[in-house]
Amino acid sequence: MNRCLECNEPLTGRSDKKYCNPYCKSAYQYRETRKNETNLYLYIDKKLKKNRKILKNFNKAGKAIIREQDLLAAGFDPRHFTHYFKTKGGNIYLFCYEYGYMKIKENGKTKYVLVKWQKYMVSKHP
Ligand SMILES: [Zn+2]
Repeated sequence: MNRCLECNEPLTGRSDKKYCNPYCKSAYQYRETRKNETNLYLYIDKKLKKNRKILKNFNKAGKAIIREQDLLAAGFDPRHFTHYFKTKGGNIYLFCYEYGYMKIKENGKTKYVLVKWQKYMVSKHP
């Protein structure tokens, strides 16, 4: 016998029923939504911290140029960053906290320029 997903009471009637009443349904769905929001938050939080750690490892001197494959092999995920900085020349560095990166092409190879956050990068007019 099926049981209500929310209160675990035995269900009667249609075999595809999942809840005993609309209240149980909305209570259950509300909690599921909250759980997924928390999961996304924790997932991105973990990604950002991992990215930061990898960038830090590859950028001990404050500036470095690294082959894309080396960064990706270490588990770096360039889709997740905390903010960006646009240089006067129009280049955009993406940052994971205080460690920045920018994708470039050099001799046909994809590389990343790694930098560290500097005080002058704080924008007063975002
Ligand atoms: Zn119920």
